[in-house]
Amino acid sequence: MILYRLRCAHGHEFEEWFSNGAEYDSRAAAGSLACPECGGTDIAKAIMAPNLGRAKAADPAPMCPPQGCGGCAFANQH
Ligand SMILES: [Zn+2]
Repeated sequence: MILYRLRCAHGHEFEEWFSNGAEYDSRAAAGSLACPECGGTDIAKAIMAPNLGRAKAADPAPMCPPQGCGGCAFANQH
């Protein structure tokens, strides 16, 4: 399953699950994708927000001892 962030011609953004990229293409071509806010069917893919990556990055890496990151799993990240 792929979660696509979609945007209608009026700038409304919403998310829709597809089993694969081809399903998005066929549903978009068939006009069966509609904006839940305005019902518009002029839908395009919006830039995907890297939700998982951002949630992970929000957690600060634990600090290494002052002598350095030798063997630390977070080497070069802090
Ligand atoms: Zn809309």
